[in-house]
Amino acid sequence: MGTGTSHPDSERVQSGILVENSDYKILLDIGSGVLHRLTQLNLDIRSIDSVFISHFHIDHCSDFLPLCQSLWLSGYEKTLNLFAPPTVRDWSRGLFDISFNYLREKILIDTTLLSEYHVVPLGDFVITVSPTLHGNYDTRAFRIEYGGKSMTYTSDTAPCRDVIELAKGTDVLIHECNWLDGVHPEGVHTSPSEIAKIAEEINPSKIILTHVSPEVVANQKKVIEIVGRRTTAEVILGEDLMTFDI
Ligand SMILES: [Zn+2]
Ligand SMILES: [Zn+2]
Repeated sequence: MGTGTSHPDSERVQSGILVENSDYKILLDIGSGVLHRLTQLNLDIRSIDSVFISHFHIDHCSDFLPLCQSLWLSGYEKTLNLFAPPTVRDWSRGLFDISFNYLREKILIDTTLLSEYHVVPLGDFVITVSPTLHGNYDTRAFRIEYGGKSMTYTSDTAPCRDVIELAKGTDVLIHECNWLDGVHPEGVHTSPSEIAKIAEEINPSKIILTHVSPEVVANQKKVIEIVGRRTTAEVILGEDLMTFDI
């Protein structure tokens, strides 16, 4: 749904991925703009079953509240499953008990606090979780298995052993690429040459770059060339509303 960052971009909203099979619809992150992107798919938002939030940076969670209001107004009758790191407790208390009290009890939310190595079966999906390395922020990456195939979404991370182990052998690797190679703060995000090293170890068949900043987009040809240096995987710079069958 969204492949951008916190930097406003006319072509890219913030982070969000919709994963679906015939029975289940899961959102991985729901940053600003993702709710509107869902409507561009002509998707009935009431068909969404679960939302996984990787961490509580605003570009990964800020449309959760608009989603709740929309589900309430559209007569959502299910319980929405929310999966998030333990900090969700304070976050949702702040949202529903203090700031937007009118939404309380308008929609039923079943919250699961994701431990660092949680495994979540959802219908025929199995979602395996790992911690990432993203400054001091408690953040999760997600691997989804279904029908013998898999995809892994790194969320925000610097190169991280846990994420590499989670993703090993995955078919589709959706990796963040927040900035170009160069001097950056340690342990926050990943650059193209770092993704190239990671891809060599994970060995996916396809790499989709997401969380791409305007500077990465402006240099996309070079970025794709660098990421592909050590792998035979197809490398794609993600765009909003791209779809893939896995
Ligand atoms: Zn972040
Ligand atoms: Zn982010």
